Amino acid sequence: MNKFNFQMTKIIATLGPASSSVEVLTDLIEAGARVFRVNFSHGAFKDYDKLIKNIRTAEKKTGIYVSILGDLSGPKIRVGKVIPEGVLLKEKQRIRFVAHDVLGGSPGNEFTFSTTYPEFIDEVKRGEKILLDDGNIELKVIAEKGKGKDTYLECEVVEGNLLTSSKGINLPDTQLSLPSMTEKDYACLEYAVKNRFHFLALSFVRSAKDVKTLKEKLLEYKARPHGLEITSGDLGFSTTFEEESYIPVISKIEKPQAIENLESIVRESDGIMVARGDLGVEMDLAEVAILQKQIIRMCKTQGKHVIVATQMLQSMIEEPVPTRAEVSDVANAIIDGADAIMLSGETAVGHHPVKAVAMMARIAHNTSEYLKDKQTKTGQFIEYAGILNRKTAMARGVNIIARDVDARYIITWAHSGGSTAMLSLQKMQIPIIAFGENITRLEQMAILYSVHPVQMKQPASGSKFVAKVDRYLLDNKLAKKGDNVIIVASSPITLRGVTNRMVIHVVGETTDREKALKMKSKDSQI
Ligand code: PGA
Ligand code: MN
Repeated sequence: MNKFNFQMTKIIATLGPASSSVEVLTDLIEAGARVFRVNFSHGAFKDYDKLIKNIRTAEKKTGIYVSILGDLSGPKIRVGKVIPEGVLLKEKQRIRFVAHDVLGGSPGNEFTFSTTYPEFIDEVKRGEKILLDDGNIELKVIAEKGKGKDTYLECEVVEGNLLTSSKGINLPDTQLSLPSMTEKDYACLEYAVKNRFHFLALSFVRSAKDVKTLKEKLLEYKARPHGLEITSGDLGFSTTFEEESYIPVISKIEKPQAIENLESIVRESDGIMVARGDLGVEMDLAEVAILQKQIIRMCKTQGKHVIVATQMLQSMIEEPVPTRAEVSDVANAIIDGADAIMLSGETAVGHHPVKAVAMMARIAHNTSEYLKDKQTKTGQFIEYAGILNRKTAMARGVNIIARDVDARYIITWAHSGGSTAMLSLQKMQIPIIAFGENITRLEQMAILYSVHPVQMKQPASGSKFVAKVDRYLLDNKLAKKGDNVIIVASSPITLRGVTNRMVIHVVGETTDREKALKMKSKDSQI
């Protein structure tokens, strides 16, 4: 296996029964997965314990760093228990939701169901829409009846289908007062911190306040730096923190309220996920493609990393090859500007998890080649990456220089990954090899577009770093003598948080004299 299988757009694979063994996890990494999503909506802590152990084993076997992203369910309401065969709901049928526990479909409760959030009965209004099972069933609220614990909600079926246990409930019309995080989410957060997860995503974010709530909780667990507000660009990889644990927060955009508050949510978040599954249920499905573009644009304007998710290769849950439309969708998400693309059911429960990742990697590779070619031809290659500061300025400069000298790689010394993350946002279509010491930080950087993390002991000086990099590139046959690479680091290199040095390095040069000669001969070529 070649551990230098450089990925530009990063692939996130959701884990589940189809992908929990060491063997499959190893194959997924080799096929191109760089982030694993643990979806806290399914499974229990004891299952995750085993899964995390298996991920670490697969990571060691492949020698490739991977991130773990924990996905918090947030305020997702579900139908309660239903009889195993389910209940077939037909158009015009009247059904009820009650505030106490019932087994839906059982004798006496033929069309009566409980939910995981009974208070919603008081919060929905007559005429509002209720969607069940990802929109496969649509209901209209007729009336609320009864009092106290005998309250029930009468609904009429608009679009019928089979209803089974624990199906999701979406209430796109309703302003729900339920909190942004449940007791279970807090338990999952604690679990994620203890088990060194690299990212936390929050589902059903409605406002920037929801994001703040999660960040403040992480702060209590010392999983965020104190007194430091991340306003731009580095996915929360701060360059000044000393903390061992640092968990960036990714907001999932999947509610109309999140679209209304998009600007402030993006500002408050470290990263964003375009969660097209629920978004397509809560909003008009026909708007999803444009919403995806608008969300990505907002992320680019603010210099935030963005993931496009859900149904990207949906048909591969069953089939070994995707539809042409799916292939186009993956490529277009990358062209829109996605930093990472995500598989859900395809890798969690599908029949072809490894094929799905390999397919995605191939599409991503082709799209990257196209983007590179297009950038060269049009001369448009600078990505606007947020508010200008020293780090963004450096990243933009590196982008221009890398192109002018046809650099093979961008090389960084990454204390914490902040500057590397900013370089990543430039979407240079050139691999960024990020050397660093801290394993957790290296694993975390695996999510970043075009970044390939490699461990190295803290170099004593800038020139020692250049020499070590040089040897590394030649030893691993990554470059040949005479190739240009760009090295970005701080000066002195031991200093944190000051990326202020950029070197155009000619591979193979070792002494200053040789260096001068090489540079001269190179100069005549460019
Ligand atoms: P989910 O989120 O898979 O956790 O529902 C993604 C989506 O809704 O698209
Ligand atoms: Mn969702």
